[in-house]
Amino acid sequence: MIWQKTLAQPLNFSGIGLHSGRRVEVTLYPAAANQGLRFVRTDLPGRPQIWAHYSRVVDTTRATSLGENGTTLATVEHLLAALGGLGVDNALIEVQGPELPIMDGSAAPFARLISAAGLRALAWPRAYLMVRETVELRRGEQWMRVRPGVPRITYSIDFDHPLIRRQQYTVPLRPESFQSEIASARTFGFLEEVQYLQSRGLALGGSLDNAVVLDDRQVLNPGGLRFPEECVRHKILDAMGDMVLLGLPLLGHLEVGRGSHELHHSFMQLLMSRQADWRIWIPSGRTGKRKAPWFQTPLWEGATA
Ligand SMILES: [Zn+2]
Repeated sequence: MIWQKTLAQPLNFSGIGLHSGRRVEVTLYPAAANQGLRFVRTDLPGRPQIWAHYSRVVDTTRATSLGENGTTLATVEHLLAALGGLGVDNALIEVQGPELPIMDGSAAPFARLISAAGLRALAWPRAYLMVRETVELRRGEQWMRVRPGVPRITYSIDFDHPLIRRQQYTVPLRPESFQSEIASARTFGFLEEVQYLQSRGLALGGSLDNAVVLDDRQVLNPGGLRFPEECVRHKILDAMGDMVLLGLPLLGHLEVGRGSHELHHSFMQLLMSRQADWRIWIPSGRTGKRKAPWFQTPLWEGATA
C-alpha cells in the first residue's frame, strides 16, 4: 500500500510576485487525506478557496492561473510542481495576494522548504491515474501524448536561438530525480519580450534574479545557465506543475513537443474525457500478483507500508 502524504508541519515563505512586483506571503498547512491541494486567498474578505484542479484553470497565458467563483490566483505551476514532484497529495496553501511569488524562477526554493518541513503519511491509500492506451493531442507543431509505461516525462523544444535550438530531455517521475534534475531549472524569456511586457505594466517583478533572460546571442544573467539544457528542463517543471491539476499522479510516459501551459491544459481535458484509456488504480498488498512489473519497487514514491 502507498499512503497519501501531507506536510509534517506548516511552512511559510514570502517573495515578489512576477506580475505585480509586490511582496506576497504564503503559508502551507498539513491537510487530511482526500483534501487535495487547496489555495486560500487570505487577502480577500471571506478567505475564498480555490481548488488546485484542471477544472479551475482560467488563464494559461505565460503562466497557469486558477479561479473559482470570481476569485483568481496566478502563477501556481512552480509551487504545484514542487508539491507533486515531492509527493505531497494534500495541503492547504494560504496566499496573501493575487499571485504566487516567483522566487528565483525555479521550484528549488519550494522544494527545499518542503523537504525541510518533512512529509507525513496519512491513513488512506493514494490512487493513481494509470494509462492503458495512448492519448494524443496535436495542434500544428505542438503535440502532447501519454502512453502506458514507466512514469516519466520526455519534453522537446525548438527555438530559433543559437543557445537553445532543439533540446530534448527525459526524466523519471520520482522525487529524487525531481530534486536533482528539474527543481532548480529557471523560467526563461527573451529580452525583447520582457521589455514589451514591462512596457505594458506586466512582469514588473521580472529581473535577472528570477528568470534566465536571453538577447539575440547570449544569456544576460551574470552566472550563466544552471544546466546546458536548463530551458527544456524548466518546460518539464511547468508540465509537472500543470499535470498536478489532474488530482492524481499519472502512471505513464508523458511526451510533449513545443508545449505551453495552454497545451498542457487542453491535454488534461482530453485525457480526462477519454475514460476508456485509463483507470484509477490503488496499489494494494492484496492484489500484489497483478501489479505492473515496474511497480514492484515503487518508482513514483518511496513510502510503502
Ligand atoms: Zn515556469
